[in-house]
Amino acid sequence: MTPAESARHIPATRPAGRRSAIVVGGSLAGLSAANWLRDAGFAVEILERSARPLQDRGAGIVLHPSTIRYLAQRRGVELDAVSLGVSRVRYLRRGEGIVSDAPSRLRFAAYGVLYAELLAAFGARDYHLGNEVRAVRDRDHHAEAELADGRVLTADVVVCADGIRSGARRALLPEVGASLAGYVAWRGVAPGAELSRMASAILSDAITYTIMPNSHLLTYPIAGGPSRLMNWVWYRNVGAGAELTDLLTDDQGRVHDFSVPAGLIPAQRVAALREDARGVLPDAVAEVIGKTADPFLQVVCDVEPPRLAFGRICLLGDAAFAARPHAAAGTAKACEDAWRLAAALAECDDVRCALARWQAGGLDLGRNLVRRSRQAGIRSQFDCTWRVGDPLPFGLYEVGDSEF
Ligand SMILES: Cc1cc2nc3c(=O)[nH]c(=O)nc-3n(C[C@H](O)[C@H](O)[C@H](O)COP(=O)(O)OP(=O)(O)OC[C@H]3O[C@@H](n4cnc5c(N)ncnc54)[C@H](O)[C@@H]3O)c2cc1C
Repeated sequence: MTPAESARHIPATRPAGRRSAIVVGGSLAGLSAANWLRDAGFAVEILERSARPLQDRGAGIVLHPSTIRYLAQRRGVELDAVSLGVSRVRYLRRGEGIVSDAPSRLRFAAYGVLYAELLAAFGARDYHLGNEVRAVRDRDHHAEAELADGRVLTADVVVCADGIRSGARRALLPEVGASLAGYVAWRGVAPGAELSRMASAILSDAITYTIMPNSHLLTYPIAGGPSRLMNWVWYRNVGAGAELTDLLTDDQGRVHDFSVPAGLIPAQRVAALREDARGVLPDAVAEVIGKTADPFLQVVCDVEPPRLAFGRICLLGDAAFAARPHAAAGTAKACEDAWRLAAALAECDDVRCALARWQAGGLDLGRNLVRRSRQAGIRSQFDCTWRVGDPLPFGLYEVGDSEF
């Protein structure tokens, strides 16, 4: 279905006798909310700006029980169908190989696999690609979403899951901005089948960390077609200003604000990244980066809003709190808040009251996650007090709750 055809299927009026929801943004937060809300009896439409499905954002996600709750409980999806586990958590050091080796109960998923499963659960009919929302408004008896083409849609509740650059958050809370952490995350995936025997032996059944002065890097495998993919994230410090602007300039000369997608990083910058990797990283990890066709880049920052509910409108996922990735729980937070949102709305007919009650838990969770993730980032990137063998900082409510 083209965006125009899809748009024609958006009901112009609200369904009689049934509460309705509009979800702005059709990525993991939006799909999670939409699935839970529909199961709670809502008629739900998702409005997604992208004209194409989002599968190609290829990167890994450390799974959390909250991330998989909908698929497991409501769709009977088996853990092994959407994620894989590794048996070891390892620390590596250049020239020394594995310097710490412990058991692991973590699981990892590919963004594309989670997205495809959540979208299959929701169905394509009410998932409207190519529909950008330019404004949301809270009215006395309904909420509105105004599309870029001028149409105005109404619903009982509007959930804004439009990501870290959320236009809804900018409009509702103009004073809240993203504060830069002072470093970026280089990311990518390399085909597991292309790795040497040496690299496979070290990396393929493990999550690995390499701690360096003012930097660290992790790898873990994710599913990807017939063979696994080796996912990696390398945190590197970059001051604000010209250096960061330069890094965020793509191969067409466009300056991005938070990320440069795969395929748009200038070739000479990718070459420099690979050369740096060969110069400072353990051989196995440098090999993975060397074999990654299209690395991409995300600026690390914190976003901490003082509110999540605005009458019949709410913020969810990265549109609400965006935490540094060190606790590996941003998606988990989105899924947890989506589940709690549907429960709050199911319990209470008064949407404003339900959102206000739901907000309290979301603020606690978001603040806690941002604080813990910030501490972990400062420890590794600036204080350099993260030691080989330290427990990983993964967790949604607390360190350790991401394990299966
Ligand atoms: C390096 C890194 C590693 C991470 N690792 C993990 C991990 O291991 N585990 C974990 O749980 N989380 C992890 N995260 C966090 C996780 O990626 C995010 O928290 C999560 O993907 C946010 O999902 P979202 O749906 O809120 O936002 P997004 O995925 O950004 O989606 C927002 C959507 O809204 C759409 N949109 C935007 N504006 C509009 C508009 N005006 N109208 C309509 N649609 C619009 C966009 O097109 C997009 O599809 C990591 C993040 C980073 C940066």
